[in-house]
Amino acid sequence: MQDSFGRPITYLRVSVTDRCDFRCFYCMPESMTFLPRSELLSLEELDQVCTRFIERGVTKIRLTGGEPLLRRGIMGFIEKISRHVQSGALNELTLTTNGSQLAKHAKDLKDLGVDRINVSMDTLDADKFSEITRGGQLLHVLDGIEAAKIAGLKVKINTVALKSFNEHDLSSMVGWCGDQGFDLTLIETMPLGDIGGDRAKDYLALDDVRTALEQDWTLAPSSHTTNGPARYMDVGETQQRLGFITPLSDHFCDTCNRMRLTCTGTLYMCLGQDSSVNLRDALRSDASQGALNAAMDQALTLKPKGHDFEISTNKGAPSLKRHMNVTGG
Ligand code: SAM
Ligand code: SF4
Repeated sequence: MQDSFGRPITYLRVSVTDRCDFRCFYCMPESMTFLPRSELLSLEELDQVCTRFIERGVTKIRLTGGEPLLRRGIMGFIEKISRHVQSGALNELTLTTNGSQLAKHAKDLKDLGVDRINVSMDTLDADKFSEITRGGQLLHVLDGIEAAKIAGLKVKINTVALKSFNEHDLSSMVGWCGDQGFDLTLIETMPLGDIGGDRAKDYLALDDVRTALEQDWTLAPSSHTTNGPARYMDVGETQQRLGFITPLSDHFCDTCNRMRLTCTGTLYMCLGQDSSVNLRDALRSDASQGALNAAMDQALTLKPKGHDFEISTNKGAPSLKRHMNVTGG
């Protein structure tokens, strides 16, 4: 699959549920309304859509959410989809998780062919963690990360940089990740969905963060790339990689290789734009999958050249109505 700008599409991110047990304040409001379960694609349907993408050239799938490990039956789904890893069609099956359920699933994930996972954790301070997630328990996440390590999963930590919340914890996060043998990716807040407050006040430009981190760490540009939004540095003292996801202060769209499927079967071509294609109706209307193929073709023509993120000129109001848990980041 190639889009109209010649970019190959090889990476599908799948938000398997919009539900979450945390309420990170930069992601969603405390009183978040979730989708009725009746609107979800069944796991069987999700498998059909993912399989069609793999047959058409997708080589990497990331499960995300909401919290992917909260979707009922998710481990059975992963077991089923892992047949594409065993056949060699899929190079990688991975997930992004908040870690709350990881302690009980880490070993099974590894046994099912998941080699690497991303765990989101914004601070190592338990009180701040509870404040940022509105009630999350840091200890559960740390237990999950430990279980992942023991199971042999390679872990990368994702941390959203938040002015006045974790700005001064980021250097110790680099050190902790170094001690644990984890890569770390820092993320700028993105203006997705109403969070019931001003998101701009938490925005921290990662260029400034990098300058501050260079006081403590030797950072050198890394040759590592994923065709995604992260730019990587090598941390001399720890030998780990440090990624910077800077959608607002940098454009990363030229090499974008991904599409995003929601749990209701809507396919978004860009995290920072609204255009979408309804794969659920296409799938349900035609058992031969002709309509699904046609909808995927249409998606390729609709993938935009770049995103429309803007946080500074609209006083923190979201650029897009949908929250990050719809597309999973
Ligand atoms: N619940 C899982 C988790 O937290 O890892 C998976 C879904 S979460 C939406 C995926 C990633 O998006 C997390 O690393 C989270 O910190 C990040 N995220 C959520 N809302 C964001 C926002 N508005 N701007 C930037 N990153 C955001
Ligand atoms: Fe849940 Fe992830 Fe959003 Fe936090 S960032 S509320 S863990 S979906």
